[in-house]
Amino acid sequence: MANTPSTPIIDRHYVLHNKEKTEEIIKRAMVDARKKIPEGAVATYIPELGKVNPDQLGICIYPLTGEKICIGDYQERFTIQSVCKVIMLIVALEVCGYKKVFELVGMEPSGEAFNSLVELDLNDSKPYNPLINSGALAVCGLLLKEVSFQDMLRYSRDLCSDYDIVLNETVFASEMKTCSRNRSIAYLLESKGIITSDVEDTLRFYTKMCSLSVTAESLAALGKKLANDGVCNETGARYMSSRTARYVKTLMLTCGMYDGSGTFAINVGIPTKSGVGGGLLSVSDKRAGIGVFGPSLDEKGNSIAGCRLLREISNELRLNLFYDPEWNKDEEEEGGEDNYTSETISHDILQHIKQ
Ligand code: GLN
Repeated sequence: MANTPSTPIIDRHYVLHNKEKTEEIIKRAMVDARKKIPEGAVATYIPELGKVNPDQLGICIYPLTGEKICIGDYQERFTIQSVCKVIMLIVALEVCGYKKVFELVGMEPSGEAFNSLVELDLNDSKPYNPLINSGALAVCGLLLKEVSFQDMLRYSRDLCSDYDIVLNETVFASEMKTCSRNRSIAYLLESKGIITSDVEDTLRFYTKMCSLSVTAESLAALGKKLANDGVCNETGARYMSSRTARYVKTLMLTCGMYDGSGTFAINVGIPTKSGVGGGLLSVSDKRAGIGVFGPSLDEKGNSIAGCRLLREISNELRLNLFYDPEWNKDEEEEGGEDNYTSETISHDILQHIKQ
């Protein structure tokens, strides 16, 4: 029998349980999430990523108040890949301004693969959003005119509170050898007047940013600054305007998981950006930054166990933007499907609808 609106709701306020309880919840969720690992695979189109051990899984939750919680392979270094699109967007919005950025790229979900060229060739079309490859390459074209890679590296380290972030030269070289698809996108963007910087320099800048080595812990620190509207809650330092933080979080919710963004929003309800290195950057607004590492990917290029782990904990820890006090994950399949039959329909609710 489904719950009815008369079910008493005891506590609507956010409380991250105490550390022990939270760890217990996460450890339980990790056991389930690990079962998904064999259903996915590490990315192989960048040969160096194909060498990564797929069985790793780690998470770091960094709440604005309360203790940091880290479990599993949270200190393992991996390449940031598409999660860097968030950092590049932040810098572009701050340095080039909103008008310039959104003249070149849209703010709509694409419903297409992250490296798609489809539709880009149509007249008047521009990249759907800055969180897919075409949009990020367009953003890089702008950034190149304003900042150096060294500036980006320094700022990434600050945002992630991680001074061990370096360029992974091996992954960078590996991707540069196999990036013909991104190269095609970049030249197409040049032909449309969207990239006006040198195309090869733009491609190198983009690929270098994708090759920064991070950990789940560093992504959680970045997420925490976004959760706190661009300010580090410990030092009071502002890293971006609250408007930039809002734009970025909104785009992460609607476009951060490529053509899996809608399903992920239903299942997890936390703005998140994925990368093919297995990283997930999540922002539970005003609550916590979350970083996940799980290199086995689903068919959309998102961490398969990482997504499952976030689904398992999002509601239990009330990290979901749309926290549902009555949600029962065992009754609901992934993607919101369930066995809704006439027996499970609530007659109390029907009374409101059918008279
Ligand atoms: N460097 C990767 C690429 O451009 C990033 C893609 C991703 O993480 N989804 O293909």
